[in-house]
Amino acid sequence: MHIFTDETDGLARAILDYASRRLRLDPVPLDGPRSPGELERAAGQTITADGLGGEAALRLFEEVLAPACISTDNPRSLAFIPAAPSEAATLFDLVVGATSIFGGSWSEGAGAVFAENQALRWLVGLAGLPATAGGVFVQGGTIGNLSALVAARQVARAVGGASPPARWRLAATTETHSSVRSAAAVMDADVVDVPVDGDGRLTGANLRRTLGREGTDGLFAVVATAGTTNTGVIDRLGEIADVCEEHGAWFHVDGAYGLAALASPSMRHRFSGVERADSFIVDPHKWLFAPFDCCALVYREPELARAAHTQTAGYLQPLSTSGEWNPSDFAIHLTRRARGLPFWFSLAAHGTSAYAEAIERTLAVARAAAADIARRPYLDLLLEPELSILVVRRRGWEPADYDAWSRRLLASGLAFVVPTVHRGETVTRLAIVNPRTTPADIAAVLDTMA
Ligand SMILES: *Cc1c(COP(=O)(O)O)cnc(C)c1O
Repeated sequence: MHIFTDETDGLARAILDYASRRLRLDPVPLDGPRSPGELERAAGQTITADGLGGEAALRLFEEVLAPACISTDNPRSLAFIPAAPSEAATLFDLVVGATSIFGGSWSEGAGAVFAENQALRWLVGLAGLPATAGGVFVQGGTIGNLSALVAARQVARAVGGASPPARWRLAATTETHSSVRSAAAVMDADVVDVPVDGDGRLTGANLRRTLGREGTDGLFAVVATAGTTNTGVIDRLGEIADVCEEHGAWFHVDGAYGLAALASPSMRHRFSGVERADSFIVDPHKWLFAPFDCCALVYREPELARAAHTQTAGYLQPLSTSGEWNPSDFAIHLTRRARGLPFWFSLAAHGTSAYAEAIERTLAVARAAAADIARRPYLDLLLEPELSILVVRRRGWEPADYDAWSRRLLASGLAFVVPTVHRGETVTRLAIVNPRTTPADIAAVLDTMA
């Protein structure tokens, strides 16, 4: 170990060759999970005193372990929110690994942080926040939401001064992502449930009515969703911003999935009001073509987040006195992979127009898919897609039918689609974020439901 020998050179070639072959597969097989017993039998004991050797371990990964993982970048991987990293982004992830950059501080990672911040600035500009807004790339939307909400409460604490409320509270809806409730639990805060409208949207009127009834004591944030995970619906951001302003509440926009569509000129107006957010998140690993895992977390006033999150200790003194932009200071983390770099590299290499085009393409496929679903007598499209998620009922199916169908699709390698629950009913949903997904791919899936 720790010496570059001829054997290391051979391993480097083997690994780069594998990565290149994997990227070239067209389409990559979907693959799928196997049981612990099957994997035990196929892989055997991989951790040994003397080691297997790099090439043997790589072969084991290629032949046994990788095929036991679903290829979320397959064009027919439509479950949850899949991934569709560009080749450039994926390749650059190898470089991030090869360079041992500590992405937590400016003093150690200045070049990487500079590049990440330019990528963040593109998102800030699309959202219409002031150029002084900024933040950090964190692991995922879950940590992004938690970090933003911790900053929000810190601000409320500072404003409240000597008279803290009995309970801290944030307002959200039933369509809000599960990670927001998880954040509230971690923070020992309560969630004020605001009813949604007929489309599953948070509106200013509902928020105002609920806060009128429940009061605003201890209310430190309102979470709006720009593209709900289940149905892709965008809350009424401008109306919500008005109510936040009336009550002095922090306005957080969770756009983990949907805010990527800010890059699409035809969609940008739908997010009107996001420019008034105190914080927002968007996951490049969802619909901005970056590999896992990557969430952009942005604050209108980064200084507020810095006050909430900066860790202090004698051994950190050189960082905290520097006055420089330390990514560690803006979320719940310290050591940090420069995980925004694959996104930055792809953006730098391809240019922002390529992003706009790729997102437009997925939106067009979603619209074509909606029309296809509407034409089929055995299917119901449960709502017109606002973004790129389609929620579909197969007439006459029970939950067990959806389960069996989903398992069949994956086992046959045709597609990865899973059931969901929408308004208490088991149905299915297709999430389209891959520019290589075609209307024919969607039709092939819909055919299997006949
Ligand atoms: C996916 C998602 C999250 C959570 O993001 P992770 O990256 O999975 O942690 C939060 N909010 C919304 C709206 C999401 O779609």
